Amino acid sequence: MTPRTVEHWERFLGERVPYPVAVRYGRSRTAPVQLLPGRAGLGAGYLVRLHRFFEHAPDEVAEDLAAWMRAGKRARAACARLDRWIHERCDALPPRTPRAERLTTRGEHHDLEALARDVLARYFAEDFHERPAPAVTWGRRAPSRARRSLRLGSYQSERNLVRVHPVLDSADTPAWFVASVLHHEFLHAAIPDERDAAGRRLHHGPAFRARERRHPDHARSLEWQARHVGRWIRRARRA
Ligand SMILES: [Zn+2]
Repeated sequence: MTPRTVEHWERFLGERVPYPVAVRYGRSRTAPVQLLPGRAGLGAGYLVRLHRFFEHAPDEVAEDLAAWMRAGKRARAACARLDRWIHERCDALPPRTPRAERLTTRGEHHDLEALARDVLARYFAEDFHERPAPAVTWGRRAPSRARRSLRLGSYQSERNLVRVHPVLDSADTPAWFVASVLHHEFLHAAIPDERDAAGRRLHHGPAFRARERRHPDHARSLEWQARHVGRWIRRARRA
């Protein structure tokens, strides 16, 4: 069967539905069929948005769609068949691939790439031989709802990626502080999972804490963080 074009649908539905219709294809999985009144200069008509898979709708499904558009939920058998077909088509769609994230290292004030290179050379010379060192990126700027604390950095092991919160890309945040956040996240990548006696995973186990304390900026970075966290939260909420 040749795929049904928009023109085909408009002709087909136009012959069966008592109001003007315009048809567009879309990709919405949450609303594979949408009836939008008064759009596209149709006055009393409807814009019908159909998922692309309606290109291959069999005749019965096309008739069921027209029946639903004429009579709504009162066309019960047609609605049930249409729903079933839509569900099957949705289930058969390939899983959505997460949009590839663009890594940004060059901030307005701090260059994460350069900072990371320095931190890795200084403190991680013995790590990251079998596994590569994590990539780094500034996190996305999106308004935050945090009130008390803010996650300044995070490490995602599946992607071997460290993200740094963009509030730290500011003139009044010293480079050494950003470097200490990188150091903390690199430790997550470098130190294998630690567990307590009961086998529970420890996010910051004794080996982690011991190595973190050896960092020469550890004390002043805790102090700096305590002093500035309120300002960062306010900034993140405004972002
Ligand atoms: Zn941590």
